[in-house]
Amino acid sequence: MSTTLVNRFRHLSGARIFSRREALRALAGVSGVATARGASGSDRPNIVVIVSDDHGYADVSCYDHPKEISTPNIDRIARSGVRFTQGYVSAYVCAPTRAALMTGRYQQRFGFYTASDSRAGMPLTEITIADILRKQGYATGAFGKWHLGLEMPYHPLKRGFDEFYGFLGHGGHDYFDLKPQSEDYRSIWRNDKVIEDTGYLTDNLGREAVNFVRKHRTRPFFLYLAFNAVHFPLQAPEETIRKFDTGKRNRDIYLAMLYHEDRAVGQLLDELEKSGLARNTLLFFLSDNGGARNNASNNGVLRDYKHSVYEGGIRVPFLVSWPARLAPNTVFREPIICMDILPTVAAAVGAQLPSDRTYDGKDLLPYLTGKASPPIHDWLFWDGDEGRRAVRHGRWKLVDNNGKIELFDLEADVGEKNDLSAKHPDIVQRLRAGLEDWRKKNAPRIRPKPGAPDEDELDRPRQSKKELRKKK
Ligand code: CA
Repeated sequence: MSTTLVNRFRHLSGARIFSRREALRALAGVSGVATARGASGSDRPNIVVIVSDDHGYADVSCYDHPKEISTPNIDRIARSGVRFTQGYVSAYVCAPTRAALMTGRYQQRFGFYTASDSRAGMPLTEITIADILRKQGYATGAFGKWHLGLEMPYHPLKRGFDEFYGFLGHGGHDYFDLKPQSEDYRSIWRNDKVIEDTGYLTDNLGREAVNFVRKHRTRPFFLYLAFNAVHFPLQAPEETIRKFDTGKRNRDIYLAMLYHEDRAVGQLLDELEKSGLARNTLLFFLSDNGGARNNASNNGVLRDYKHSVYEGGIRVPFLVSWPARLAPNTVFREPIICMDILPTVAAAVGAQLPSDRTYDGKDLLPYLTGKASPPIHDWLFWDGDEGRRAVRHGRWKLVDNNGKIELFDLEADVGEKNDLSAKHPDIVQRLRAGLEDWRKKNAPRIRPKPGAPDEDELDRPRQSKKELRKKK
């Protein structure tokens, strides 16, 4: 094993760092477990994917974080598994990232570029991670935000899920008003029916996730828990907001929303532990895009926010744990991306991927267990069909903002402060060519409506100001 690979397996800050020998021993042990358990029969792991929404890169306390951030339960995932420092999503807004996560493919392959494409729905030719797991005999449940289609053919129950509680669209939802809405897709659904519920939506999603685990503890299950927290509108119970005092009202509300989300994650982790399922559960946690400007989130050293192809829009908190297979308390420093979840999960449960299509995601398990050496992705691409594009190749990242080209060395300059395009025209040329080649392979937009409002424009005006006034 190379020294660089050993260096990737460092403990979290504050903990000690593996020596080379210790790392080798730990990895050998992990590999031994892998061989003994296999990936079939009753040893098949449960799968949990937790998606946070518009969650700042610095707003998890197992990452470098401002002092007011405390996410003890999300941190438990990092302690029992792997924290990615370069975990990417394939889009700078919600819906396209979810399309890639669900399919293991660049969403542009099937024409899904922007949040508003969710109104057309994710093409029915796509096979979801839930389709694959249901075929393997898994109980499948989706809880929270869907955002991959508003009509019944695109409903979670038609995309591989046995159970659903949540809302179909758009990007955000009122956290307190859970009564039926004039448009069905804005209402809360249980399975294929609109329902009326009460309470605080984030708490309800935690409740649903826990109930799902209890109900299916005796068979393998796939739980997709897609919080709309901490997406706009900024709303939380007043008694929770009072716990925080940053001097900024919006930040306090955001922290309160995050408090409820973290607590719900804790309830789910507690249930997995109580049921004896935690050890053989493969669990991912990630945000669907970077922290947004409108929810008082913090992306730390990263440049910019949601809607941007700078790192602040696309590099997110990203964790995975599987105590039966993966070493605990590990930091993995290679770039990975949300499409990797599906092939990793398929390998973990022993499912063959359909051979009639190309998968862009990679099975991460060989890399996480030291059996394969990075790079995992030679190239990574971003394109929202809105003039903002980017490509990453090794340490280099090229950003194209409506024709303004910049080049960054992310190993030396994670904050993307120093544009090196003039200094390295050859690298610019190579990355631009790579980006253009990739774009040629993609499908045209499924809903080509230039200027169609995105999710935030649809959801922002009617809820935020009214609610903020009410809460003041
Ligand atoms: Ca989002």
